[in-house]
Amino acid sequence: MERGLPRGCEICLKGGKLVLFVTGECDRSCFYCPLSEKRRGLDVVYADEVLVEDDLDIILEGRAIDAEGTGITGGDPILKLSRTIKCIKLLKQFFGRDHHIHLYTNGRHVNKDVLRKLRVAGLDELRFHPEREDWRKIALAKEMGLYAGAEVPAIPRNEKLIKELVSYLARVEADFLNLNQLEFCPQNAYQLKQRGFVLEKDSMAAVLGSEEVAYSVIRWADREGIDVPIHYCSSVAKDAVQTKNRLIRRSRNVARPYEEVLSDGLLGKFIIRTTSGDPRALKSFIVKTSGTSPNMVGISSSGDALEVQRDVVAEVRRLLPNSNIVYVQEYPTATRERFAEYPY
Ligand code: SF4
Repeated sequence: MERGLPRGCEICLKGGKLVLFVTGECDRSCFYCPLSEKRRGLDVVYADEVLVEDDLDIILEGRAIDAEGTGITGGDPILKLSRTIKCIKLLKQFFGRDHHIHLYTNGRHVNKDVLRKLRVAGLDELRFHPEREDWRKIALAKEMGLYAGAEVPAIPRNEKLIKELVSYLARVEADFLNLNQLEFCPQNAYQLKQRGFVLEKDSMAAVLGSEEVAYSVIRWADREGIDVPIHYCSSVAKDAVQTKNRLIRRSRNVARPYEEVLSDGLLGKFIIRTTSGDPRALKSFIVKTSGTSPNMVGISSSGDALEVQRDVVAEVRRLLPNSNIVYVQEYPTATRERFAEYPY
């Protein structure tokens, strides 16, 4: 029985997938929708966490994580088909034909013409999370020669429906089914609680019963001899593996010489706040007095503090005894959100 992981998932788990959000518009209203207020219903484009204003923003983010592929998502990307096609072509032109591109859609607006355009543009993989009435779009995608399957949340109480989907996928010879662990997030927490879902013990996000449903469906498909590869993607796989790997890749590419890449993908550095003078003048003073390389001392983006490497911090403390020194950990994203700050 073929149980191969879709190529898009392989790259994703390595942290090598750029997530290209092409629009927040969508005409479905799934109760578990995780889109934030900054995205839901809005016609905005993000490459990972970077708000895209220009094609170059997409390329730069792809370079920053050494992207081996891209997952195009939304909203429903099909509602902005020309933009989606343009992005597929741009990514293939810049990163090469091997750059693997998969696309998520609820399938509502998929038809032959849409599928033909996606295939001609070079799309490698199509993932549907459809309502039952749109299941037939998966068959259509297969008829049109696309690598296509389904990706749906493993919703407790939906086991029967998921099994019906599996049977359908087998009938139309779909390429895969991905079952995602259902997760709480700030955007869907109210909806999930209203429906009686609760958190799994010791988990920050996983919904109790979701994993059980996924494994139960996989065991059932095995027993029935159903030959559709089914993969279960847990919150842990997403956060502890995929997200961490993506952070590590980005950190390696964007770390300044005085920043250290930590094992969880965050960036660490020492920040010196002082009233002893202008940070630029203090940087020259430190470099001249201690013989430190200028690369090991930086100025914060706000311009009011020094940033230094671990090996230099003791010397800086000696030279600027009245300064306030902290060790900070930041995400390696474009906006460099602060994760933690510790006194030194
Ligand atoms: S189809 Fe996707 S984007 Fe649209 S409401 Fe459902 S989960 Fe949200």
